[in-house]
Amino acid sequence: MSKKVKLGAPEEIFDLPGNKECADCTAYGPNWASWNLGILICETCAGMHRNLGTHISKVKSTTMDKWNEEQAVPCRNIGNFMSNSFYEYNLPPKTKYVTSVKSSGGDKIDTGEARKLERWIRAKYEAKKYSQPGVDPPHVRLARGESLREAPKEEKPVEEKSASKKDKEKKEKTDKGDKSPSKKDGKEKKEKVSKKEKKDLDREVTPAPAVKEVKRSRKEKKEKKSQELESSFAELETWAMTSSKEKKSRKKKKKDEAGERHTSDMA
Ligand SMILES: [Zn+2]
Repeated sequence: MSKKVKLGAPEEIFDLPGNKECADCTAYGPNWASWNLGILICETCAGMHRNLGTHISKVKSTTMDKWNEEQAVPCRNIGNFMSNSFYEYNLPPKTKYVTSVKSSGGDKIDTGEARKLERWIRAKYEAKKYSQPGVDPPHVRLARGESLREAPKEEKPVEEKSASKKDKEKKEKTDKGDKSPSKKDGKEKKEKVSKKEKKDLDREVTPAPAVKEVKRSRKEKKEKKSQELESSFAELETWAMTSSKEKKSRKKKKKDEAGERHTSDMA
């Protein structure tokens, strides 16, 4: 009973960057706090924060209320500047509400302005409309034990691991280089081609008539063409398209030639 209770927030929180003005309407000298969000706000904005519900914002006077350590920690570690860096990260120009009221304890705003202010605060904290994407709010990160002085965790691990990870990736890439799919395919195809060549040669050991000779040279030409293909896989499709036309006309020509020769041989 005799325990003396000190009223008001810890002194040091007033010196944090951005804490000279209300976090939400820029009114000077805020004397309320949303202690879970770790920010200082004016009396009017404190009313709006109450409307958000305690699951979003827990409001406390920095002068008249009792403060315990749990409440002081977010306010010591976050502050208006850091909080707004997150909640106003994607803020379009002229979107931030700026009060016409100079001092936070002074004049009240009219109902039209109040509605505007409430819309702004709900968009900012309830809908998180302007927040940094992919990053948790400062008070959530703080509760997780993260240091808020460092960049949000999202980007950190990449930097930390970058040296070893990059090396690994590089190694993997160079390892892969020799057996990259296209090259592997090329090898296999080449093997197939040489097998085919062998087959053709075997088959053609037996003396062939003139017509077969022509056919063979045609086949060789084809083979040559397909080997050329191996060297330029990227051009495969365009070649196939254009060559099919060529082949057709060539085939016709060859057929005619063969026919001619055949008849001349016969004669
Ligand atoms: Zn305010």
